[in-house]
Amino acid sequence: MNRRTKIVATLGPATDDPDVIERLIMAGCDVVRVNFSHGDAESHARRIRLVRAVARELDTDVAVLGDLPGPKIRIGQFREGSVELNVGDSFALIADEAAPAGDQNQVGVSYAGLAQDVRPGSELLLDDGLMSLRVVAVEGSTIHCQVLTSGRLHDRKGLNLRGGGLSLPGVSDEDKQHIAKAAEWQVDYLAVSFPRSAEDMNHARDLLRQAGGEAALVSKIERTEALDQLDDIIEASDAVLVARGDLGVEIGEAELPGLQKRIITASLNLNRPVITATQMMQSMIESPIPTRAEVSDVANAVIDGTDAVMLSAETAVGKHPVRVIEAMGRICEAAERHVQAHIPQRRLTVKPERTDQAIAMAAMITANNVPLDAIIALTESGSTAQWLSRVRSPVPIIALSPNRASLRRMRLFQHVQPLFFPAGLADDPIDRSELVEQALQRALEAGLIEAGQRVILTFGDQIGRHGGTNTMKILKVPAATNDSTQPELANL
Ligand code: ATP
Ligand code: MG
Ligand code: MG
Repeated sequence: MNRRTKIVATLGPATDDPDVIERLIMAGCDVVRVNFSHGDAESHARRIRLVRAVARELDTDVAVLGDLPGPKIRIGQFREGSVELNVGDSFALIADEAAPAGDQNQVGVSYAGLAQDVRPGSELLLDDGLMSLRVVAVEGSTIHCQVLTSGRLHDRKGLNLRGGGLSLPGVSDEDKQHIAKAAEWQVDYLAVSFPRSAEDMNHARDLLRQAGGEAALVSKIERTEALDQLDDIIEASDAVLVARGDLGVEIGEAELPGLQKRIITASLNLNRPVITATQMMQSMIESPIPTRAEVSDVANAVIDGTDAVMLSAETAVGKHPVRVIEAMGRICEAAERHVQAHIPQRRLTVKPERTDQAIAMAAMITANNVPLDAIIALTESGSTAQWLSRVRSPVPIIALSPNRASLRRMRLFQHVQPLFFPAGLADDPIDRSELVEQALQRALEAGLIEAGQRVILTFGDQIGRHGGTNTMKILKVPAATNDSTQPELANL
């Protein structure tokens, strides 16, 4: 597979067949997402088990991303399940847990602080922005509103404030139970929904570590306040997700393309992998082919520099979970071909702060300026592969690691092909030249390089140390691979 952009697919009822999971992985799904907002713990555990079992059978590593619901504000229930509201109608929200079941005139809200967070003139969005209300007056816990958009309002729909600013804590009580489960299931990535600040990310990380979880933390950028603290939040995260659903509702969908570019650029500048999500191939929930607009959307995310593109309902409940991954993969590959020639050589002028970063940058400068076929990184934790993948180059990055968790995590990094390589284990006394030879052999066997090609190899003198990469070699892949063959130095 030549695609460098990674694909995240949400699991759901449409992917419960083991055969579908197998075809999903074969089609190149890199990361599966389990959204804890839908289904119960039993269904989440079952789906994670199934993916891992199928991946093992296929002798590959797929990452699991658990997604926390976060503090989503919802309206309560109606006496009759829903009401029809028309433009100009008066309608009140009662910010009180004891509010009675709703009717034509009012409904309760789960969040008691709402009355303090709005003022006359505030615009409230319901059901992902399908309906909206303008606040007229606030009287105790009663928020008097006027209907701005007609429609039928159903029980328990989500509620957002136009412009953001609803002050709920970043990690809800419900999230804490999900965090404990995520630790138990050893998910590889855990997404935090609606973080407002770096503290929200740190808090989630503390809770996860206390529960014994080692997952990398993903911040979902989806509220207005997060944009003011973007760099701080990204620095407190291991990866970033452009959550266009709720972000579009809070800030207005017209702002999304610009914000997507800003969030991706900020993530890349801070060396974090970034996922672009929501409605990327929405029409394929039903249709066997994407619209031209969707093709352009996916391609533009690739051109913006995203590491990964994500599917939500398209795979979770869609009619064509496998086809949509295949289609998305083709769009990514084509977009990558078109942008290859004019990609800005990002980050090559930055002063490295660590040895492995310096080696990674040296490798990428070389890869961008001399004809080479691959970079092979021996990496225990995956950190060298992450540094390498932050810089665009035409050369694929083959990341060899003895650590399965690192291999899974690296599935998210653009242009990185993780490959199991047991020889690099800590305390393994084999000498360096033998290690180099075995690494080339492994990549050859996997069909990722060919005899006679020129490659860069990065590794550490002391394999097994986190961030121990301190060496870079340029080699020609030897034709014969018996024990006495020494890798030959390519004459560039
Ligand atoms: P989030 O804000 O976390 O993205 P969401 O409601 O948008 O929440 P997605 O995971 O983006 O949920 O999926 C989109 C839609 O796909 C959901 O609204 C739901 O209808 C459906 N879906 C997703 N996961 C499941 C599941 N496990 N079971 C049933 N339906 C699901
Ligand atoms: Mg969301
Ligand atoms: Mg969504």
